Amino acid sequence: MNEKIIEMNSASTLLSIKQLEIVYPSQDGLGYNTAVNGLNLELAQGEIGCLLGSSGCGKSTVLRAICGFEPARSGEILLRNKVVSSAAIHIPPNQRRVGMVFQDFALFPHLTVLENIAFGLQHLPAQERDRLAKDWLKRVSLSDKAGSYPHELSGGQQQRVALARAMAPEPDLILLDEPFSSLDIDLRERLAIEMREILKANEITALLVTHDQLEAFAIADQVGVMSDGKVIQWDSPYELYHKPMNRYIADFIGRGVFVKGLIRAEDKVEIELGALELGQGHDGKVGDEVNVLLREDDIQHDDNSPVQAEVVRKTFRGADFLYTLRLSSGTEVFALVPSHHDHAIGEKIGICLAADHVVTFKD
Ligand code: ADP
Ligand code: MG
Repeated sequence: MNEKIIEMNSASTLLSIKQLEIVYPSQDGLGYNTAVNGLNLELAQGEIGCLLGSSGCGKSTVLRAICGFEPARSGEILLRNKVVSSAAIHIPPNQRRVGMVFQDFALFPHLTVLENIAFGLQHLPAQERDRLAKDWLKRVSLSDKAGSYPHELSGGQQQRVALARAMAPEPDLILLDEPFSSLDIDLRERLAIEMREILKANEITALLVTHDQLEAFAIADQVGVMSDGKVIQWDSPYELYHKPMNRYIADFIGRGVFVKGLIRAEDKVEIELGALELGQGHDGKVGDEVNVLLREDDIQHDDNSPVQAEVVRKTFRGADFLYTLRLSSGTEVFALVPSHHDHAIGEKIGICLAADHVVTFKD
């Protein structure tokens, strides 16, 4: 029974990366610099994964390695349980069934939208090629743009063409390098949701990379936070946010601060603002001093609360204000407050705790 489950699991794993190491020659040509340093991840068939990390942490290198453009120094990349990259093996890119959407879309400017999409289908007879390209154009809702040239399209439309071009040859896996970075900020989240719908509707497995957390959360089932060429935590956005495995992740995801706390009982930690209930698996035992993560949604404004904090900064965000509040100890915390509560800087307002998943770390 157990064996069967394991077998089924490995059958549904499309991409698996184990202890991957990738290096580039150093400038002086004498040594090398490590860009990817013991990276692990697993992506199931049909899943959308995202590598999230700041610039230079190795995201694009990972994608290029999966495509077959960078050799592995050690470790392995497996596609459908078959090793495609290791120290000893390097399957060429055209035999990997992996499609790539580049950061700048890289559409062919002298080809029409339809010709761009048909480009990867040249192994097919002309009629079949044309039929498939039109079908993909329809799937990204651009049928009326078949004869247009890329420069006649908006950024979001160009992106959909790039996506259709990558999907048309039906690769096993699509890789997307910062797919929204060249688009307007206010478009990005909408397009991320739209792209997720297209990928899901076509049952495509995809791995994208971005430095933008909201984008990662909007599009991906699983997100890996990367730092220094490694995935630190590979989890659902919900788990990353509510159960960060260490302080680095807690700092990186969301907006929060750490305040001092004392564990009073198995299930209680006391902080300056009162007692919080501890869930399972927290860090520390009764009597321990810990750091407690307080996020902008863990503190609520309540005019009737006896606990007061001073407004230090405020940012209007439409539906709400992001207030920076100073507690009596001097500690500053964030609070997201509906924007009809418009308080002046310097004013003292009532607050209460509304933390559901309390995250604590020992020093
Ligand atoms: P990211 O996509 O997260 O910004 P990259 O994968 O592009 O990161 O780069 C990771 C590290 O590898 C960086 O330090 C970068 O300078 C270095 N690097 C990337 N490409 C090359 C290259 N072709 N030659 C040498 N060093 C490179
Ligand atoms: Mg990059």
